[in-house]
Amino acid sequence: SSSLPLLVATGLCKSFGGIKAVYNANIEVNKGSITGLIGPNGAGKTTLFNLLSNFIRPDKGRVIFDGEPIHHLQPYQIAQQGIVRTFQVPRTLSRLSVLDNMLLAAQKQTGENFWQVQFQPHIVAKEEKQLQEQAMSLLAAVGLAKKARDYAGSLSGGQRKLLEMGRALMTNPKLILLDEPAAGVNPKLIDDICDRIITWNREGMTFLIIEHNMDVIMSLCDRVWVLAEGQNLADGVPAEIQTNAKVLEAYLGK
Ligand code: ATP
Repeated sequence: SSSLPLLVATGLCKSFGGIKAVYNANIEVNKGSITGLIGPNGAGKTTLFNLLSNFIRPDKGRVIFDGEPIHHLQPYQIAQQGIVRTFQVPRTLSRLSVLDNMLLAAQKQTGENFWQVQFQPHIVAKEEKQLQEQAMSLLAAVGLAKKARDYAGSLSGGQRKLLEMGRALMTNPKLILLDEPAAGVNPKLIDDICDRIITWNREGMTFLIIEHNMDVIMSLCDRVWVLAEGQNLADGVPAEIQTNAKVLEAYLGK
């Protein structure tokens, strides 16, 4: 990966009542990297994701994406800039087919439909054909091509995570934020998920990944950022982080 920063967040703060969920946190994601975000339970990782995508407004702090400030933008505008995220609990639509879940993800996100995406029959036929091809090729990549016509609700937890990653790719993003891609996934599928992330990364995609599974983090990431109690504890290459005394203490202390 290069050392050009794609995302730089500085001094992010967010309190909920008296709890400083994130306090003065910084993070950098280089273009073409797979960057990890780790920390004990309650460290503020998901809140930091929510702040980066402005799902939650920061009390303080700046987020620069591709050289432009984005912390003042609405979530749908941030999505349009090329940041897409997945959730700890996949937000696939169970009563739609796997393919329709993919096609829906590709629809241009606007202020009106961002929270409640609806079908828009005005997508022209040519574009639809291209989107179908893109969707089927991504479904093949994540091993779900044969399930394209099945209800998304029939997928296993791991398959839903793969579908969510496929949905994220349908938006042609510059940066994908993955919230615990390996959580609740069987070991065989975890390997598939890691292989997919590595392949997409080699093709140029940048990832920021929250994950509790240290094998996943250590094998995937070029650089790892550690949060504890809402604050930066350490950052560095995986080998440094794995042996960092402060990091070990933060995990053992919990
Ligand atoms: P985990 O690894 O368990 O998912 P995390 O590192 O993602 O944890 P967060 O979910 O960001 O941590 O939570 C950080 C702190 O902020 C916790 O103390 C949590 O209880 C608190 N918190 C998060 N969201 C809210 C909210 N909407 N209202 C009140 N407190 C919140």
